[in-house]
Amino acid sequence: MSDQFNELFQEILRDHFKHPRYRAVLNPNLPLFENPSCGDQVRLQVKLNENIIENFSFDGSGCSISMASADMLCEILTGKTVEQAFQIIDEFLKIMRGELETSLLQKYGDLEALAGVAQLPVRVKCATLAWNGAKRVLELSLESQNG
Ligand code: ZN
Repeated sequence: MSDQFNELFQEILRDHFKHPRYRAVLNPNLPLFENPSCGDQVRLQVKLNENIIENFSFDGSGCSISMASADMLCEILTGKTVEQAFQIIDEFLKIMRGELETSLLQKYGDLEALAGVAQLPVRVKCATLAWNGAKRVLELSLESQNG
């Protein structure tokens, strides 16, 4: 990765960290997802309208990668169907585990800024925290819808 790209990606991450679009004050009783190796904590809330994700929001605290990743997750998944969301989450987790090419991130706009993180195992946990959490939150909301 060239330095120029690296700088651009750093700037994108910094912007999502400092000016999150999808951060909200969430009910403290919602499940808290944690990455103890870095001290990142995140809560997520999804509002479903039938099968469509009307809104994903997060709150929490942690490093810039974990928080920027949570904001980008909410941005990407808002407006998607539940099926699309599961697909995108799985694809992102596979990319971060090195099972898929990082070039696949290009189609998700700002998310490409996390491409470099896939090479840094310690930071992968920061980047994937919200995504593992979102998967769980979606599963829980489907369970409550069905029963
Ligand atoms: Zn972190």
